[in-house]
Amino acid sequence: MRLVGVKDLPSHLQFNPRVKRGYRPPMSLNDCLSSICYVHNESFNIYSHAFALCYFALVSWLDYSNVWSSESLGIITCFIVLDYLSSCVPFIASVVYHLFMPHNSGRHTYNMLLMVDVCGVWFSCTVGALSLIYCSLQCIPWLRNCYLMLYAVVSLTCLVFLVTSTSAKARVVPLTIQFCVRVISHFIRLSPIGSGHPSAVNYHIIMDIFAAAGALINALHIPERWLPGKVDYIFNGHSLMHISAFVTLTFGRKGFLLDMLWLSTNNHCHRI
Ligand SMILES: [Zn+2]
Repeated sequence: MRLVGVKDLPSHLQFNPRVKRGYRPPMSLNDCLSSICYVHNESFNIYSHAFALCYFALVSWLDYSNVWSSESLGIITCFIVLDYLSSCVPFIASVVYHLFMPHNSGRHTYNMLLMVDVCGVWFSCTVGALSLIYCSLQCIPWLRNCYLMLYAVVSLTCLVFLVTSTSAKARVVPLTIQFCVRVISHFIRLSPIGSGHPSAVNYHIIMDIFAAAGALINALHIPERWLPGKVDYIFNGHSLMHISAFVTLTFGRKGFLLDMLWLSTNNHCHRI
């Protein structure tokens, strides 16, 4: 397959002009599928998240076996199912988006695929944070329930903005608001009214630092803004964000497992 430069692409695929070479031209569904067999500038994005999907789909069961038993509370089982989904869904969506983005049916199909990718990120952020918030306020049930409802309302509003936004910049705003609500829950956990495993908050904070750094690097096109045409295949902003997404969910998983261990004990709120 002959690869093309950014100027040879339809306008809807020219979203990062600093990545100059290695693009697949518009192609059929079968050609998109066949493109996993040769190297182009989306290969790293496809393979990195396919690896992340396999990793979380398989390793998760080992992780969960350390915190789950047949006597576990129903809420722990529920959070484990949600954690599994929030660890796998974004990577499935990402692989689909990157694999089929040059499909020759044009802008409309591309926008649909982009929406699949964005909604995968939203799903992971939303569902993955529920156990975190629950444990942070577990010892004050009324406040915990109010905060979870607030998070649900903010997240659903974000989803509406995400699917109706027409630019990448407009999509940053709702995800940032959702991110801020999650960060506030870290401060609550660190305050005298907070709860959860004492060590889990460190992993949750590292998780959000990597999430924010990845989003920022991708949005600012770092480092390709300084090295145009030099990082076309790997280590451009988007591929670095792919690595940070994997690291983000790895740290999130560590915090989640500690919280589930903490939740499985029956005396965790005695200090309140
Ligand atoms: Zn991506």
